[in-house]
Amino acid sequence: MNLLKKNIIFSDVSKLKGVGKQLSKYLKNRKIEKVKDILLNLPYSETDRSKIINLNNLEIGKIQTIRVLVKKLNFPRIRNLPNKILCEDKTGKIEIAYFNSREGYLRKIFPINKWIIISGKITFFNKKYQITNPDYVTTLDKEKYVKQVIPKYSLTKGINEKKYRLISEQVIKDLPNVKEWYEKDFLKKNNFLSWKENIITLHKTKEGQDNLSRSYKRLAFDEICANFLVLSENRKKIKKKKKNKFFKSFLSSKILQNLPFKLTKSQEKVLNEINEDLKSDTRMFRVIQGDVGSGKTIVSLLAIANVVESKHQCALMAPTEILARQHFYLVKKIFFNRNIQIEFLTAKTDLRKRKEILNNLKDGKIDIIIGTHSLFQKKIDYKNLGLVIIDEQHKFGVKQRSDLANKGGNNCDVLLMSATPIPRTMMMSLYGDMDISKIMEKPDKRKKIITLSKPEKKINELWSFIKKQLDLDNQVFWVCPLIQESAFLDYSSAKKKFDLINKKFPNKVGLIHGGLNKIEKEKVLNKFLKKEIFILVSTTVIEVGIDFPNANLIIIENANKFGLAQLHQLRGRVGRGNKQGICILLFKEGLSKNAIKRIKLLKNSDDGFYIAEEDMKLRGFGDIIGYQQSGVKNFKFADPVIHEDLFLLAEEYIKKRNIDVNESKYTFLLKLFDKAEIINQKID
Ligand code: ADP
Ligand code: MG
Repeated sequence: MNLLKKNIIFSDVSKLKGVGKQLSKYLKNRKIEKVKDILLNLPYSETDRSKIINLNNLEIGKIQTIRVLVKKLNFPRIRNLPNKILCEDKTGKIEIAYFNSREGYLRKIFPINKWIIISGKITFFNKKYQITNPDYVTTLDKEKYVKQVIPKYSLTKGINEKKYRLISEQVIKDLPNVKEWYEKDFLKKNNFLSWKENIITLHKTKEGQDNLSRSYKRLAFDEICANFLVLSENRKKIKKKKKNKFFKSFLSSKILQNLPFKLTKSQEKVLNEINEDLKSDTRMFRVIQGDVGSGKTIVSLLAIANVVESKHQCALMAPTEILARQHFYLVKKIFFNRNIQIEFLTAKTDLRKRKEILNNLKDGKIDIIIGTHSLFQKKIDYKNLGLVIIDEQHKFGVKQRSDLANKGGNNCDVLLMSATPIPRTMMMSLYGDMDISKIMEKPDKRKKIITLSKPEKKINELWSFIKKQLDLDNQVFWVCPLIQESAFLDYSSAKKKFDLINKKFPNKVGLIHGGLNKIEKEKVLNKFLKKEIFILVSTTVIEVGIDFPNANLIIIENANKFGLAQLHQLRGRVGRGNKQGICILLFKEGLSKNAIKRIKLLKNSDDGFYIAEEDMKLRGFGDIIGYQQSGVKNFKFADPVIHEDLFLLAEEYIKKRNIDVNESKYTFLLKLFDKAEIINQKID
């Protein structure tokens, strides 16, 4: 088949020669659906069949290639005995054994007294060298095909090397010359090969197995660029439409005057950035990134005040009912007596009330609506939505974000708040389409949380300490490690701990674990909030962002299991009121050097961003909190730790150029990494 046409690269694998129904099903199980997926399935190792080995030099257990003379064929007529072929060269003899092979076929490929090439795994059986079911048997004129270093791909049952090779080689042999999306100078400067050469190198050399080789790096760079291009395109689309909204800030200054505190410099700066966006004639598409407790909420409420004053509606969305309710009370308090209509809507709102709210939203009788995902259902119409704020979102992908912007229409600004401290490279790949505002400092009054560590066997020393806290009317979180693989184990370990603690402090303990549904969880959280219980035993399912001003002690078991950023987030749940927060990390037996390093880091810093960067260096990218939560596994090849330079390079590359993603060379790049659909999606 001639693959010169570029398009074949994006065709179904079944279009390839030798790929029937069965094989294409197997391939698809391995996520190889299109021809290009074969290109992107890199070898993980290789098999060296390149040398002809004399029979007196064979190595047992190795895959080797031999050139031998066929001496004798033996077909025992007894079931389960293999057919055997005796072969030799000048230095020795070998037996080739076949199970389940037809005589006619074997006679054809093993002609008596002819020299042939065989390649396969050498074994030793009955004092003889043997190859059972060799991988290759061929005539001398075709020895070149066998005598090679052959890339090894991870394959599922049902695809052997020979079959896969047939496919991958026909694809790689006929690769089209594609138009480069980078300029020649750029390729040269970065020591990058052309796309085609690069793919060939990845498959034909060891470079495909080395994520720092130059051809691997070009591939990773391509992937990053595809990713960033989508984000930048998304941004362009959102920024293209002009909005028409005036800007006032009288109300927000009034509210500011009445607050019991002054904004931090960071908060002020971020508020200014938001106000500039609100004033401008392009839409705001911004994320506030700030550590837990840095005071994002009040900043967002001041933005709401400005928008409400300009006679537009605002929607504030939180991931859970309880968090939404907390926002609702705060908003009511802050806008008290200002003739502003505030409503609360979640999935639990009863039908009649719901109907009333929907009508009032449509008629513009509600100024601020606070709630959960329910705020963005299809059925809800806003009269003039001017601002959407989403709190603690890290579960949204690029597409969902643009859907949301769509819902609001041309005049709607979008603001996200994220407490997940993530390193810069990851920020770029998750939020590259948005403007970023960072709240770097925390309000002064907040005391640094005291972080302590303790071996788990000294757990008994904790009881008197906890008792003291309870006597002071303080509340306690007890975090058990989450056992993700098994809801049952998760439950049983948390339940055991609950029983133990409940014995020590009867009727004061609550339990939250992965097996509970949302409503059950919220019930327990509410009890804790209302101080009906004082100790909350939980896995890490406890919500991010909820203010429990009375909780000042958190105990985290098996703290080694958590990433630093995650530990930092967990401890951020205490010390939110005026009391000194304390975090106790429990460890299993002796600590490793690395663990000690990590605790030290945590003890010495309360800067979530710094901790996240360090954590990433210590544990790698995959463990970073937020990455898994984001649900956006963006990269197959690029690694934000190992390839940090490439991320920065890609950012600069795109920034410096006015790239039109609709040019066919970019479409090709985007299609390679399955990004084309996102681009084609309309935003109006
Ligand atoms: P987060 O960024 O985690 O959402 P919040 O907005 O919930 O943080 O703020 C945490 C607490 O700090 C709240 O009780 C809030 O009233 C308080 N707070 C916010 N800004 C300031 C400030 N500038 N000075 C003092 N306290 C503040
Ligand atoms: Mg918050």
